[in-house]
Amino acid sequence: MKLATRMIHGGPTIDPQTGALGVPIYQISTYRQTSVDHFGKYDYARGDNPTREALEETIAVLEGGSRCLAFSSGMAAISTSLLIFSPGDHLVVCDDVYGGAYRVLSTIFSRLGITSTFVDATDLTAIEAAIRPETKGIYLETPSNPLLKITDLRGAVAIARRHGLITLVDNTFMTPYLQRPLELGCDIVLHSGTKFLNGHSDVICGFAVVKDAGLGQRIRYIQNAFGTGLGPQDSFLTLRGIKTLKVRMDQSQQNTMRIATWLKEHKRVTAVHYPGLADHPGYTIHAGQADGPGAVFSFELDSFEATKRLLEGTKLAAFAVSLGGVESIISYPARMSHASVPAEERQRKGITDSLVRLSVGLEDPDDLIADLDQAMG
Ligand SMILES: *Cc1c(COP(=O)(O)O)cnc(C)c1O
Repeated sequence: MKLATRMIHGGPTIDPQTGALGVPIYQISTYRQTSVDHFGKYDYARGDNPTREALEETIAVLEGGSRCLAFSSGMAAISTSLLIFSPGDHLVVCDDVYGGAYRVLSTIFSRLGITSTFVDATDLTAIEAAIRPETKGIYLETPSNPLLKITDLRGAVAIARRHGLITLVDNTFMTPYLQRPLELGCDIVLHSGTKFLNGHSDVICGFAVVKDAGLGQRIRYIQNAFGTGLGPQDSFLTLRGIKTLKVRMDQSQQNTMRIATWLKEHKRVTAVHYPGLADHPGYTIHAGQADGPGAVFSFELDSFEATKRLLEGTKLAAFAVSLGGVESIISYPARMSHASVPAEERQRKGITDSLVRLSVGLEDPDDLIADLDQAMG
């Protein structure tokens, strides 16, 4: 089956009780047992819930994994997965990792003795140079947020294999429709399903997907122990969202290409970062490992004043955090997604005060362009 078909028929889709074309919301916390000697498949919903399971199966199929676990947020998926590491372990992490991941790694995991070195992962030699005897994992995001930098996943996997490391990839921007890191040899794929997977800006959820059953069991053990699983209502909504993932991504991506190309020629715009543009430094590598450039990009304006005017002046694109909804969202990384990164560190990474990120929704691109144009003045 092709991916578009799997989005609709990939997991359990028919309710065996009634024939309903969907798995119901099992809004329940506990299950009656019939034997003292052995409990049924379901006993308590922190561990297992059929609605969550249907969602997990669907995403596992889309990513080409053997197991997916659904979490109460992207950060819950990331943090729970990172707990497979132990005190004394060291990680090599891409330096423009999602702000929340930077925060848990640099303030919480570091306190627990799991340390990280942040490197420019577009440079494979920098990844390898940061590896120490106690290094256990490489944590990547490609395209990265907010500069859309590209890491060569096959190259990173080759390094990881040479050193016996686990490769983790945050695939939020791409979704399995556009990029499937497990097929390239990565070990754990992470998602904020809050973004494109659910796609309607009405659920917070996250996923971890693996090929290796043992690794899946380890993450599942921590998920159940910590209680970080996703609730049934949110599982249902996300399952519904995934059914239209292909058409949403196709349209948003097409709109993004139009807008990014238009912005490149705008007199107030000094740079456009989008891996769909042929002059993007990661264009060729991205094209070799993904099926499209996605629907998020960033650009820089010629002054802070113009940036402020744009952010406060758009009428269609909502000035907000988050991305991946049917509605366009314009955000300001320096004060939003990357506010938890120290200012000096931000500057060093190129997250300047005139950098804007745009997540393009399903509005007519002509209307979006007119809106951006009037806001920039
Ligand atoms: C939003 C986001 C996260 C965090 O997900 P939540 O669902 O907000 O917890 C992680 N990684 C990326 C790339 C994101 O965009």
